[in-house]
Amino acid sequence: MANSGKLTDLKGVGPKLAEQLGKLNIHSLTDLAFHLPFRYEDRSKITPIAGLMPMRPAVIQGEVKGSSVVFGKRRSLLVKLQDQSGLINLRFFHFNAAQKNQMSKGTLLRCYGEPRRGASGLELYHPEYQRIEDGLDTPLEASLTPIYPATDGITQQRLRLLHEQMIELLKQDEVALPDLLPEQWCAQWRLPGLREALLFLHNPPANTDLLQLEAGSHPAHKRLILEELLAHQLSLFKLRAQVQADKAPAILSDHTLRSALLEKLPFTPTGAQQRVTDEITEDLKQPYPMLRLVQGDVGSGKTLVAALAACDLLQQGYQVALMAPTEILAEQHLRNLAGWFEPLGIRMGWLAGKVKGKAREKSLYEIASGEAQLVVGTHALFQEDVHFSKLGLVIIDEQHRFGVHQRLSLKEKGERAGLAPHQLIMTATPIPRTLAMSAYADLDTSVIDELPPGRSPITTVAISDQRRPEIIQRVQEACSQGAQAYWVCTLIEESEALQCQAAENTFEELQKALPGLRVGLVHGRMKAAEKADIMAAFKDHQLDLLVATTVIEVGVDVPNSSLMIIENPERLGLAQLHQLRGRVGRGSAKSHCVLLYKSPLSLTSKQRLQVMRDSQDGFYIAEQDLEIRGPGELLGTRQTGLQMLRIADLQRDADLLPQVQEMANDLWYQHPATVEPLIKRWLGDAERFANV
Ligand code: ADP
Ligand code: MG
Repeated sequence: MANSGKLTDLKGVGPKLAEQLGKLNIHSLTDLAFHLPFRYEDRSKITPIAGLMPMRPAVIQGEVKGSSVVFGKRRSLLVKLQDQSGLINLRFFHFNAAQKNQMSKGTLLRCYGEPRRGASGLELYHPEYQRIEDGLDTPLEASLTPIYPATDGITQQRLRLLHEQMIELLKQDEVALPDLLPEQWCAQWRLPGLREALLFLHNPPANTDLLQLEAGSHPAHKRLILEELLAHQLSLFKLRAQVQADKAPAILSDHTLRSALLEKLPFTPTGAQQRVTDEITEDLKQPYPMLRLVQGDVGSGKTLVAALAACDLLQQGYQVALMAPTEILAEQHLRNLAGWFEPLGIRMGWLAGKVKGKAREKSLYEIASGEAQLVVGTHALFQEDVHFSKLGLVIIDEQHRFGVHQRLSLKEKGERAGLAPHQLIMTATPIPRTLAMSAYADLDTSVIDELPPGRSPITTVAISDQRRPEIIQRVQEACSQGAQAYWVCTLIEESEALQCQAAENTFEELQKALPGLRVGLVHGRMKAAEKADIMAAFKDHQLDLLVATTVIEVGVDVPNSSLMIIENPERLGLAQLHQLRGRVGRGSAKSHCVLLYKSPLSLTSKQRLQVMRDSQDGFYIAEQDLEIRGPGELLGTRQTGLQMLRIADLQRDADLLPQVQEMANDLWYQHPATVEPLIKRWLGDAERFANV
């Protein structure tokens, strides 16, 4: 956030405390102003003892009727407190003699704590307490008590003192916090001003609805949430503007190459493929870079759309680069595209991390000289020493694996030709529309909403791994009738080593159990060439059963495989399961997917597997995933800055997104001067794309 107002201006803040505050991302007075309470306590009124509710913290006041040390499971001090309405026990497990004496019979006590069910009905465990002296006025709090996110070494008390000082300065308008939203918006959208909202949230009056506050649905919250989401949206707009400030080759084509490609295909494009291709063709005519995201469910035929887009550029002498997130996938693209393009006289290029030494030099040379026209590869294509001769289009497949930064670093790759490349991003992770509009506000979006004809639905069942032998039998039967099958081993995702080990074990087990079948194994720790050989063998039906880790998740295309077993599906996200399952059901044979779970299943796991059984619609599954696991998982952690939200919560605040869209457009076009300060306020140094 903007660095206006030094923390050390506050009383009691020296360099050491300032440094500790830094751990809470508080570097300035404005940061402190945006460091909001995450909950509140109501110490503004006294609740009669008889009116206490379990788990609802409250202030009570009464007279001590007696205290005693009791020896139950644990030694504790039990203090009986009575008011006009009733009696309650206070229980202390840690206490000393002085405390015991302070709470002697006849003392007036005011306590704050959370009532819980204990040995004697409702009890207060370790309440905060204060003695009330007769005749002395002991006022209650005038407002709700804010509880701030704290960290080691900084107590709540300390934070509150700092906030109180900040609030005073804010009231006197001495914190540099200009209201950046247009004045008329407050009335139009019924929002409080920025200062008003902040003052309210730090210090809500005693009669404020606590539940509404904690749900984040108070107008004061809304004001800040909208502002934050707006800032993120605008940062994406800015990113888009930066990219499109460059020149790109305007492609006006008679589509000769495209027609030649289509003529050779054994099928015709679906209506959806045709429509999306048309949208891309329009983009390519512009003299600035296309930024288009193509969403299409697993198997919807994104590769063909990419190939058709590539045609027009290739025909005009530009290079096209296609990047995939894994080597397996990249190799598969290379094979497929070479099959389509080499007969048309297009020369392919290839670059992956594993390409080393002489081979790499040769690849780099071909790319730099322009000899390689259609270059396929992995992240390796991003590396600094990769130079293209005349790069006109970059295609990125399965985008959720790529960071936005990586994607943008591509811009430089076209520089030699003095032109920035067009960008086409393809993803199979269906993202609910509103979320997509926010996460990809820098991109135009097309959706391939139709599958090629002739696909047969996949029947999905969830079966306990106690029935594993039965399932192995089933694999035996299916494969001896000519089908091919996947057996996918999953483990906790962070541990690739364990996952590979599990796959190796399963491979051995299945080889023994299925002596009549040709079983292969592929996992992430194998050499690229080895992986490629196994995949090729599976594709050629030299293998019946492929034991694999989730490396086969994306893109692998073997139409003859019609059975998939997924072990421990309860450990994966729904979107990932959907991806995996999309490896079958690609041919005309009836396909099956067995979710072989470890019992017992938790209730949520049951619900999630149920979603998989019920639906094959990626969008529906994504919506469910969003419900169950939140947007972070769905979008991938590194991909967008939306995970860094301070106040907004994409799941909770999803209904605000359309409004944010409207506001962002309005601001961008009508009030451009506020765009930069808003981004700076909310994204500050973290501005994702500042130095792209
Ligand atoms: P994804 O969208 O998952 O990347 P692919 O591009 O791998 O899908 O296509 C899946 C399969 O469908 C491939 O075998 C591809 O050749 C085939 N395919 C693509 N388009 C069509 C079409 N219009 N008609 C029939 N088959 C198609
Ligand atoms: Mg694909």
